[in-house]
Amino acid sequence: MKGMMMHRPLRIADILTFAAEVYPDSEIVSVRTEGDLHRTNYRETAGRVAQLAHALQAMGVGFGERVATLAWNGYRHLELYYAISGIGSICHTINPRLSAEQMTYIVNHAEDRVIFVDLTFVPILEKLKDALPANLTFVIMTDRAHMPENSLNALCYEELLHGQPATFDWPEFDENTAAGLCYTSGTTGDPKGALYSHRSTVLHTLIVPLSMPGVFAPGRKILPVVPLFHVNAWGTPYTAPISGATLVYPGPKLDGPSLFELMDREKVWSAWGVPTVWLGLLNEIDKQGRPPEGFGHMVVGGSAAPRPMVEKFENLGVDVCHAWGMTEMSPIGTTGQQIAGMEAWPKDKLLDWKARQGRRVFNVEFKIVDEAGKRLPHDGKTVGELHVRGNTIVAGYFKNDAATAKAVDEEGWFGTGDVAHISADGILTITDRAKDLIKSGGEWISSLDLETIVMAHPKVANCAVVAVPHPKWEERPLLIVTPQGEPPAKEELIALLAQHLAKWQLPDDVVFVETLPLTATGKVSKLTLRQEFKDYALPDAVPARAS
Ligand code: AMP
Repeated sequence: MKGMMMHRPLRIADILTFAAEVYPDSEIVSVRTEGDLHRTNYRETAGRVAQLAHALQAMGVGFGERVATLAWNGYRHLELYYAISGIGSICHTINPRLSAEQMTYIVNHAEDRVIFVDLTFVPILEKLKDALPANLTFVIMTDRAHMPENSLNALCYEELLHGQPATFDWPEFDENTAAGLCYTSGTTGDPKGALYSHRSTVLHTLIVPLSMPGVFAPGRKILPVVPLFHVNAWGTPYTAPISGATLVYPGPKLDGPSLFELMDREKVWSAWGVPTVWLGLLNEIDKQGRPPEGFGHMVVGGSAAPRPMVEKFENLGVDVCHAWGMTEMSPIGTTGQQIAGMEAWPKDKLLDWKARQGRRVFNVEFKIVDEAGKRLPHDGKTVGELHVRGNTIVAGYFKNDAATAKAVDEEGWFGTGDVAHISADGILTITDRAKDLIKSGGEWISSLDLETIVMAHPKVANCAVVAVPHPKWEERPLLIVTPQGEPPAKEELIALLAQHLAKWQLPDDVVFVETLPLTATGKVSKLTLRQEFKDYALPDAVPARAS
């Protein structure tokens, strides 16, 4: 017997319609590429999204067609998210930090019809133009006064909207209709497309705030540094409006001083981003001798948040929430939000807990498996590859049967490629990316374990451990460090590691560099480091393995 309840398709457009009605005055504040600060709210945004939807239809953009964006975090990018998906087309966000080759690949692979581009990125497209589809229309996201000379024959965003009606009768369609497309940053091989649906996106929007009690609420000021051009800015374009929170967008200004100034001026309460961004902010906080006014909460993810960083922010009175997820998961899979009762925990226990990846969110199931795919216990120590299942996780990749066949296991779970253990009370700890593990004499060494320890050294700003080929042991760990001021002695770092690890797990050498290479999503690029150091001559004295 079926239940006797109405069935209404879950649609993304309804999120903004709701916000415009219930929280009309909640703001969206954006640093613009034009150089100024712009303020709007959900009521005005809903009107402009309707205008944009009319404009897209007038351009002939059809149901299911892909419309790309190449833009920073700002109100126009948010408008595109809603207008494109609202008419049943697919919002394809492109990461501007991808290589020219990768960008050309994904625009052609996605068969984009239109690309909306921020002023900053016009030169990138001008260079690539000849390799992109011939029927592509370019729209520059600015007004007539700021339109640059360009060879793209581009249209002007504000002119497209001008004169269009500020209401739109959003079409009804199946909730499984595709809404968004985001390619993985593709550290190896071609990028792969995660194709989100209206249903998966709305469910993610309902699920995530539940896992972060007290974070999403009307009047809360949220700063997503995590980009709209990758992983849906961790769902904030949807979770903020549905809860009436204010969005503060940093535009192109992502350095520590700019973020400090914006947060201070707008009294941002919660800031979201990858650890490298927060290292920049911490430097500025050190210089100013105080945190930005009103700063009380942060979400850190994308790569592991080092415990010393968590500690520094907690000591400033900032409640740190660690989150883990993937492009393929919409993206959030866990959150480590502190909940009632935890304030009484001893400080060390709390910091240890916050440096782990947190609890799974509702509807994302976990299992860890060995190399043969056999399930391993959730006992807080047994380590295996993490597989996930749920309504917000990809069932395959866009137009890529080969990758789809590899993505999902025999039981229908998605293999994340992350190596982890899970405690009996469901707390996830990522111990490494499978491909970043170091195999030495048949034993595995976790690069993340070493990095976590080294990051606690006061003279270390950032670090990475990578495998270097070795004739006897197959691979040995090399520690690469960006120092904070005067570099520490190598022996000091090895001695620190030796307090926690077996001798054979210690790095064979330490190299100091000025900066670490970053991926397109702001994470330390181990792939680049492995290539750079593949011929590195390790010192002769190789520590013997324990066994
Ligand atoms: P992306 O699809 O670019 O978001 O990258 C997803 C990958 O980033 C995951 O599979 C993890 O390897 C890594 N990652 C994301 N969040 C975390 C986190 N909090 N701790 C450790 N690794 C993370």
